[in-house]
Amino acid sequence: MAPREIIVIPDPRLKLVSEPVAAVDREIRRLADDMLETMYEAPGIGLAAIQIAVPKRIITIDLARKDEPKTPVVLINPEIVWRSEETSTYEEGCLSIPEYYEEVERPAQCRVRYLDLDGKPQDLDCDGLMATCVQHEVDHLNGVLFIDYLSRLKRERVMKKFTKQAKREATA
Ligand code: ZN
Repeated sequence: MAPREIIVIPDPRLKLVSEPVAAVDREIRRLADDMLETMYEAPGIGLAAIQIAVPKRIITIDLARKDEPKTPVVLINPEIVWRSEETSTYEEGCLSIPEYYEEVERPAQCRVRYLDLDGKPQDLDCDGLMATCVQHEVDHLNGVLFIDYLSRLKRERVMKKFTKQAKREATA
């Protein structure tokens, strides 16, 4: 296992639609391990493969707190098959938009269908933070970021800030 570099906005790869995983093989399990390690090191509670520049439909999540035992979840080819009418609002952040947080309203519950690390189909009913996290990560697989839900003004402001930062780093 090895942590990988996390790409940040305005990297255009974050707008890609990721490809489904054809077979859950050793290579995919290794990728999932790397994603978990990258997520724990960051630290973050969720990661999509595209955030380490791999356009495959895999997400990892662990909502356990620092002082709790790890509870890693790996979802391959996740698909949200049901969303509640009821909504909830969480302050979201993203490892690809470091140190930026804004409230986003999303369906409060959802059901996600996915393949586990043995390639077996599973359904998971999610609510609370898990529901928000699953929706945030599945969005990444479709090239959608949480800032896409904000007002144009807010989105443009954060994009501008990170674009400037990227330019500075490129010329440094
Ligand atoms: Zn994110």
